Amino acid sequence: MTLKLGCIADDFTGATDLANNLVRAGMRVVQTIGVPDAPVPDVDCVVVALKSRTNPAAEAVAMSLAAARWLRAQGAAQLYFKVCSTFDSTPAGNIGPVAEALLAETGARFAIVTPAFPENGRTVFKGHLFVGDVLLSDSPMRQHPLTPMTDANLVRVLQAQVRSARVGLVDHRALAQGEDGLRARFAALQAEGVALAIADAVSDDDLRLLARAARAQPVVVAGSGLAIGIPALHGLAPSAAAAQLPPPRGARAVVSGSCSAATNAQVAAFTGPRLAIDPLRLAQGEDLVAQALDWARPLLGATPVLVHATAEPAAVQAVQQQLGAARAGALVEDALAGIAAGLVQAGVGQLVVAGGETSGAVVQRLGVQVLRIGPQIDPGVPWCHAAVHGGLHLALKSGNFGGRDFFERAFGLL
Ligand code: ADP
Repeated sequence: MTLKLGCIADDFTGATDLANNLVRAGMRVVQTIGVPDAPVPDVDCVVVALKSRTNPAAEAVAMSLAAARWLRAQGAAQLYFKVCSTFDSTPAGNIGPVAEALLAETGARFAIVTPAFPENGRTVFKGHLFVGDVLLSDSPMRQHPLTPMTDANLVRVLQAQVRSARVGLVDHRALAQGEDGLRARFAALQAEGVALAIADAVSDDDLRLLARAARAQPVVVAGSGLAIGIPALHGLAPSAAAAQLPPPRGARAVVSGSCSAATNAQVAAFTGPRLAIDPLRLAQGEDLVAQALDWARPLLGATPVLVHATAEPAAVQAVQQQLGAARAGALVEDALAGIAAGLVQAGVGQLVVAGGETSGAVVQRLGVQVLRIGPQIDPGVPWCHAAVHGGLHLALKSGNFGGRDFFERAFGLL
């Protein structure tokens, strides 16, 4: 296998979002959970999903370098470091330290950095990130529990994170000069000693232009947006074949641990048989995994079943007050992972999981390391296929993604 592109994502659902964009633009893509030790099928691109966004910087650097070395050993001439489209990070990193380390690893002296993804309302103008119509610093991201973003000036944000690199700006005027003009701007910045440059982009055309101008660069740092312009540079065009998965088999089930507004609406809209998992009963030691599996087994095959801990904010708060948020979360994740594994053992071959952390727990319990990325169900959420347990179709939905009828539509698509 010679990879056309090697990607390193700093979180799991971000990796899927990126993989989804690459598949839509015609690449055959596999997503791996960390650096795989299992064999990877012959594809155009591998996205290594890490969980490094909020780790100590040194740890994030070490994880990213291990992924970079593996991807380069598979022939990837360009590395794509996927960061959050709202540039989620702390003053300590990890976007800056990882980007610097990837430059050093590849011997590159310059990389563009852009979280822009206009389709999702993320645009960069004069180095400032907008979320919809407001600056990042005026968006709800300013109150994020782990990575509050209180400055929309990405040049300043990134400069604060790096050790020695200088951070510069490729602004919209440089983009207006076209591909050659952009390359000249890259060279001029490099001559001034700039190693990382925030790049403006307010449209898909801007992203495609940036991808073209940066095609010979060993490293790019971006949200999932820049990916729309890369497959075409390798002679690939959108095709159903890129998203082709093995035929579906087995029974259908949904396991939901997300309590987001979108997931609550999706659970409410589900019309098949459902079972709610009560965290307080889990805390009392009741074996709800066995109970859920006894409930589900006779139903499997006839219709999709739903097992959920999903609850409205007031109910979640009440549980968290009694158990603490961390303990409640861990109890529920563990139970839902056990239920997912039991369902697969009982013959489920098409499984939808709602919730980012919940998906992580389920994938780990199922021993999934390699996911082939298939067709998109809703923006950012594709069907995937894992060659475990006789072949398993998985849709891993982060909390806020997907329309109201996501669960039923997902099964309809297979
Ligand atoms: P999202 O993608 O919406 O953030 P996650 O799965 O990442 O969803 O996070 C949801 C967290 O809430 C998980 O840790 C899950 O175990 C926990 N959780 C789910 N249901 C409940 C509940 N009823 N009470 C308390 N915590 C819950």
